[in-house]
Amino acid sequence: MRSNILDILRQANGTYVSGEDIARTMNVSRTAVWKHIRELKQAGYAIDSHSRSGYCLMETPDLLLPSEIQNGRKTKVLGKDIQYYKEVISTNNQAKFAAQQDAGEGTIIVSEAQTSGRGRLARGWYSPAEKGIWFSVILRPHFLPQEAPKCTLLAAVAIVKAIETITEIQVGIKWPNDILYNKLKLVGILTEMNAEMDCINYIIIGMGINVNIQKNEFPLELQHIATSLAIIKGKKISRVQLLNEILFQIETLYNIAQAEGFVKILEEWKKYSVTLGKTVDVIGINDTFAGLAMDIDADGALLVKTKAGIKRVLAGDVSIRAKG
Ligand code: ADP
Repeated sequence: MRSNILDILRQANGTYVSGEDIARTMNVSRTAVWKHIRELKQAGYAIDSHSRSGYCLMETPDLLLPSEIQNGRKTKVLGKDIQYYKEVISTNNQAKFAAQQDAGEGTIIVSEAQTSGRGRLARGWYSPAEKGIWFSVILRPHFLPQEAPKCTLLAAVAIVKAIETITEIQVGIKWPNDILYNKLKLVGILTEMNAEMDCINYIIIGMGINVNIQKNEFPLELQHIATSLAIIKGKKISRVQLLNEILFQIETLYNIAQAEGFVKILEEWKKYSVTLGKTVDVIGINDTFAGLAMDIDADGALLVKTKAGIKRVLAGDVSIRAKG
């Protein structure tokens, strides 16, 4: 019902609508209208109330509220169900919990802040309140567990396209899970899976997108390795709009992957890659080696040409550092 009042206020386009009109349209009492307006105000909507002319929506909050996401959503399944938090330990943790409680395919977990956001290999992800898009998607695909790592590549392509559409900024993908601008890290992706031998129970793709963080707001140790869309663009970016475009792009690619596999998606990934063709250090737990990142194979593994021949590198075990 709250979103209905919001719709009515939005449609009024900056003019006042009387409580009586809203109550009549929605077939509820004026007190009920008043209560819901109060809730909307508490959620952060600026609504002016005037005893004679009624209510007017002055400003929507700069938050990733489900009501705001739903208002611009272009997808069928992704984001149909939204779990929204002001703060969580990590959206991937929260998504795992939700998936175990039977949350459906496409459910997204969005939080304004993460107190302990995670990268790969248990590294931390800095996620300050209201400055980024920290969210996870739950997928329940029909394909085999071996295909799951390619969901990271799928998400990376989707995010690159969404960033380009909304901000006109062109970014590159560092294998397997980072999106960079001028070698600075803009986005991190963490895919986790729960599966049996031959079927996936759920996949969680967690994404951290630095949207409106200013340079001096990053912790010192990140200031020379990280960037945000607002830094690049020199102005604030709408997080709701960008999130909706990301959902749309992920859903489009995911439908392709389910219907015909990942071939097209891997081809697109290669177009945006900033790793292929570069000399890289591959840093594993037990050994480190250098080589030329030649290609990715049909499983999304990185093929690195070394003195000892071509080595096949799987995501999850290693870090890649471009040389020079
Ligand atoms: P790697 O790039 O080494 O494989 P991950 O992809 O797991 O590492 O990302 C975690 C690393 O990213 C952290 O160790 C830290 O250096 C960096 N980092 C943490 N938070 C952010 C952020 N908000 N933006 C950019 N980089 C970050």
